[in-house]
Amino acid sequence: MVSSVVKSVSPSATISLINKENALKAAGKKVISFSLGEPDFTTPIQILDYASEKMREGYTHYTQSPGIPELRKKIAEKFSIEKNVKIDDKSVLVTPTKFALYASYLALLDPGDEILIPDPGWVSYIEMAHLVGAKPVYYKLDEKRNFSLDQEDIKNRIGEKTKAIVINSPNNPTGSVLSNEDLKFLRDIVRDRKITVISDEIYEKLVFEGKHESFLNDFTLLENSIIVSGFSKSHAMTGLRIGYMISSEEMIKYVDRIQQHTMTCAATYSQYAALKALDDDSSPEKMKMEYRKRRDVLVEGLKEIPIFKINPPQATFYMYPEIDYKGMDSMEFSNYLLEKLYISVVPGIAFGPSGKYRIRISFSTGIENIKEGIERLKNLK
Ligand code: PLP
Repeated sequence: MVSSVVKSVSPSATISLINKENALKAAGKKVISFSLGEPDFTTPIQILDYASEKMREGYTHYTQSPGIPELRKKIAEKFSIEKNVKIDDKSVLVTPTKFALYASYLALLDPGDEILIPDPGWVSYIEMAHLVGAKPVYYKLDEKRNFSLDQEDIKNRIGEKTKAIVINSPNNPTGSVLSNEDLKFLRDIVRDRKITVISDEIYEKLVFEGKHESFLNDFTLLENSIIVSGFSKSHAMTGLRIGYMISSEEMIKYVDRIQQHTMTCAATYSQYAALKALDDDSSPEKMKMEYRKRRDVLVEGLKEIPIFKINPPQATFYMYPEIDYKGMDSMEFSNYLLEKLYISVVPGIAFGPSGKYRIRISFSTGIENIKEGIERLKNLK
């Protein structure tokens, strides 16, 4: 009954762990959750107030498909100022971030085309390729150099059929940030070729030291760039499903066709919430400072536990340590942590083959939980 395309998509690698965690919680166990993939903060109240005000005013109908004009304009203006590259509202499409990625794949890839995706990298990059019938090809991030690009590896993987390269800086699951030198290398590679970089910048507001550099730092690169970002991680708005894509006017027109026939438009109240969020730089800053404190506690704590080898994250709320415990792989170790210590993490294997002996620890949880988690982990002998 089911299409071969859908059959080619793998189920979530972590579903059995999530079920187990829920069963433990239901049985009254205090599980320390280091597995959350979203902010544990509440959405800033003024954003919610504004969105509900707009709903009561009657803004509960369709909007223009690419987004309400004032939101597109504001996104373009803010991006232009923050990233120091002039773009206008015709280069912006408002849509949930995940859909922006999927629609980019649909717009760029024919069946059989190749798309380069990072290993380690976020779980959906590969499955979206399967959904559009394209071939995902991993490129390596170099763990010895804080998950920066292995430039030779990328060069070797680009072939006749390569249409796109996905980058994700800051990166989920590693918390690493690509250097300006790596970004320059990629810009040089795609310029004047029929290759597009899809740059997933959703964690851009959570860089602990220094400023985030977008892939798109020069207007002439617009033809070769699709930038996706959104409000989920910056303003703790995951449930509002709102983000955006920035690309050439032509690409935005094509992607808008996909939007017209699938989503119609992003949810109207969420678009107003996003409009308000663009005025609020202080909430992301506060959340970032709190994540940074948590990171420091976690890094100090895990340094004391010899089974972990860590790369302190420069951004996000994730870290991605290597594990060396009784020969267990990431899946076995994650199950073991849950069953023996009531700690949930995500097995590294979910993020690509290089994660076989790694786990993702999310510090999107309070400092007290982090401290208790560390105490429990110290029991691993
Ligand atoms: N990209 C990365 C790297 C993510 O981690 C996520 C969500 O976890 C997304 C994109 C999707 O964001 P959204 O939930 O806002 O669509």
